[in-house]
Amino acid sequence: MNAGFRRILEKQEEQPTFPTFTKGQRVSVMLEKRESLTAPPLRYSEADLLSQMEKYGLGTPATRAEIIERLVETETVERKNGRFYPTSKGKQLIELVNEELKSPQLTARWEKQLEAIARGNGNPKAFLRNIRKQTDRLVAEIKQSERTYRPHNLTGSMCPECGSFLKERVTKEGRMLVCSNMTCRFRKRKDPKLSHRRCPQCKKRMEIHEGKAGIYFQCRPCNVIEKAEEQKKTKLGQKERALLRKYSAENDSFSTSLGDLLKQALDKKKN
Ligand SMILES: [Zn+2]
Ligand SMILES: [Zn+2]
Repeated sequence: MNAGFRRILEKQEEQPTFPTFTKGQRVSVMLEKRESLTAPPLRYSEADLLSQMEKYGLGTPATRAEIIERLVETETVERKNGRFYPTSKGKQLIELVNEELKSPQLTARWEKQLEAIARGNGNPKAFLRNIRKQTDRLVAEIKQSERTYRPHNLTGSMCPECGSFLKERVTKEGRMLVCSNMTCRFRKRKDPKLSHRRCPQCKKRMEIHEGKAGIYFQCRPCNVIEKAEEQKKTKLGQKERALLRKYSAENDSFSTSLGDLLKQALDKKKN
């Protein structure tokens, strides 16, 4: 039997026990060969993480959720179906830093001292001096180590302004390409910007673009393009509304064929 994930878990699960028999007892057995895989424990959910943080004295009830959000924002973990998975960046970070720095005890100790200071039972100057000294030592250790960090999100495309490679970042507005050179501010959108307008066919949010004729909305999968003005709400009479319905039906086919033409043009450009 291969121990699989159990090799790296400290806690061993109990082995199944067999019934006891007395000597000479006749038993009938039915044998069945089965092969199955054990399932590793689930990744932490937000509630799991919060209770682990509480257990180790990390953060306060007011800051714990924020600390987790910060991990997501800095792309060290990502949320998938309500559970947290380390990213390549997160895994590398854990490999790089000193044992001490990644131990929850260090942070908990610092937080305890801070609490004491808040209650007036500590020496803030000594605390700061100490933290500074510890941080200097920890950073020096990492700098001396042979390990290197490779940005997980480096792309093959070059920054048009300084020639460094661009990194891909996931933001609330979609994917962005940002320059990996810290002193260069270049960034551009990788995904088109999404509007709040819903596609009339699939009801998903439409992309918003600015073309020569002004702002327009587009749903690529459905091949629908709508001009921004169409969204304007005006009070119309019965007749006008009927007319509009008639023409918007025609407009639908118009927008689809416009989308087709645009796609054709784009495809041609690519070839
Ligand atoms: Zn640059
Ligand atoms: Zn659509």
